[in-house]
Amino acid sequence: MTKDRYRRQALVRELGQNGQDMLATKHVVVIGGGGLGSNSANLMVRMGIGSIDIIDYDSVELSNLHRTSVFSEEDLGKSKALVLQEKLQKVNMNVRAKAINQRVTSENIRAFVSDADVIIDGTDSVPLRLLINEESIRHNIPWVYAGVYETVGMVMGILPKNTPCFQCITQNIPKSTMKEIPVLGSLPATIASIQCNEAIKILLGRHPKGLIIYDVWNQCFDSMNIQRNPSCITCGRK
Ligand SMILES: [Zn+2]
Repeated sequence: MTKDRYRRQALVRELGQNGQDMLATKHVVVIGGGGLGSNSANLMVRMGIGSIDIIDYDSVELSNLHRTSVFSEEDLGKSKALVLQEKLQKVNMNVRAKAINQRVTSENIRAFVSDADVIIDGTDSVPLRLLINEESIRHNIPWVYAGVYETVGMVMGILPKNTPCFQCITQNIPKSTMKEIPVLGSLPATIASIQCNEAIKILLGRHPKGLIIYDVWNQCFDSMNIQRNPSCITCGRK
């Protein structure tokens, strides 16, 4: 039954049955269950990851529904992490989905990510991304950054001490002073798909693409091969 579920995916040359079997042994931690995190978690569960933790402290709000594909009106006011666990577990009983209804801090992040094969960024917060980045470099855990703004999304897979880290590229990340980030509803699902693909590649031992930038409104797609910053305060060669 499991083989039948992934039959079409295992036919993809880049994956094959070996790659599919490998995915079933991997553990993914999604930090943030909003527009990006919920869509990425949904894809990861459907594609056959072994286990997934979804960490989010917030509740589902009406203003979330335009850019998420898992939540519905009946979920308003409920914990995002718990709703995702419940719904995604029903999608695929072969995957172990676990909700963690907590806020991630510098004190507790280690406990949440220590067993992760890859961390998925669904945070929408630069300070939290810098925290994930430091933990990633310190303990050699890959992660995949993603961000969205209006009609443009960015993704970058980060392999500690191999690719540039988030700190290396912070000057390339647009800064917003707006209280609420404007987001076209279709954007997070698109960017989460790219983020998920980069995570799957990392899990299969492939190299991520670099900094990917996609403007869904103008259909401009670009990827930049940014170099590591030798004097980066987080990953620099001291
Ligand atoms: Zn760096």
